[in-house]
Amino acid sequence: MSELRYDGQVVVVTGAGGGLGKAYCLFFASRGASVVVNDLGGSFKGEGTSTKAADVVVDEIKAAGGKAVANYDSVENGDRIIETAIKNYGRIDILINNAGILRDISFKNMKDQDWDLIIAVHVKGSYKCARAAWPYFRKQKYGRIINTASAAGLFGSFGQTNYSAAKLALVGFTETLAKEGAKYNIHSNVIAPIAASRMTQTVMPPDILENLKPDWVVPLVAVLAHKDSEENGQIFEAGGGHIAKLRWERASGLLLKADDTYTPGAILKKWDQISNFKNAEHPTGVADFLGLLEKSMQLGPNEQ
Ligand code: NAD
Repeated sequence: MSELRYDGQVVVVTGAGGGLGKAYCLFFASRGASVVVNDLGGSFKGEGTSTKAADVVVDEIKAAGGKAVANYDSVENGDRIIETAIKNYGRIDILINNAGILRDISFKNMKDQDWDLIIAVHVKGSYKCARAAWPYFRKQKYGRIINTASAAGLFGSFGQTNYSAAKLALVGFTETLAKEGAKYNIHSNVIAPIAASRMTQTVMPPDILENLKPDWVVPLVAVLAHKDSEENGQIFEAGGGHIAKLRWERASGLLLKADDTYTPGAILKKWDQISNFKNAEHPTGVADFLGLLEKSMQLGPNEQ
């Protein structure tokens, strides 16, 4: 198979001054794309700003003969980031919502500022960029969006209630974008990466970090962002050479008649069925649930 290329395409990568974002930019530029390198240039806790982070990446791309332009806005002003793509290159094809910060703190000590900032950067930031790119994607009947979740969002993580909430929000965001974008050939997917970066260098031991180069998340993003990719609305985890799709799973479950025999005692009697995954299903929309409701209406009264 020949190598995937992105000639003539414009890629916006947010939070691209380091870590994963930088790796994405270098890759897309090396495969023919023009890249908007966005980074606010603050600390990993979201303090301060600097133009240096984005500039260094743009310089590196240009030195290698690639095309790139910097943008220093916060993703909370995503419309300005997309505007940079339109002003400089006249289009936008691929949006990688990657910018992120941490405000780790136990829930007991969580302050509103810690909560609000995390939600603003991850959730509102991804929304603002996607919202600004959307009319262009619809008009050209083509677009690719990669959002960035986290294992913390999918499974929970001590000291990260704010970050977990934000990251799982991006899964729901992606699943709905995928449904709304499908008929316009706008494909949205979400990744839960794991990679060595300034975000993880304090929480993982050096020997593990050595095996988690950001470059090893790039091939998955490259495939999902490509025009030939059919993947839409999917969740992937990637890091250290491992890539896997994740999905929702529903236990075969307990189906009872919903009348006045539907009591706490009635469900307790058959509790094991509620969490039995032996004949699990993998629902992909609310319609799956409505089908169950129809079945429950045909049942007889429940055992008390
Ligand atoms: P990183 O800190 O190297 O990169 C994040 C970048 O986002 C930084 O350069 C930062 O300046 C930029 N940024 C922060 N706030 C911004 C804002 N408001 N506007 C524009 N830019 C902003 O960390 P990374 O590990 O490369 O993380 C990239 C993404 O991957 C993040 O969304 C992170 O939550 C996610 N993630 C990373 C890991 C991992 O193992 N590294 C795991 C799960 C999720």
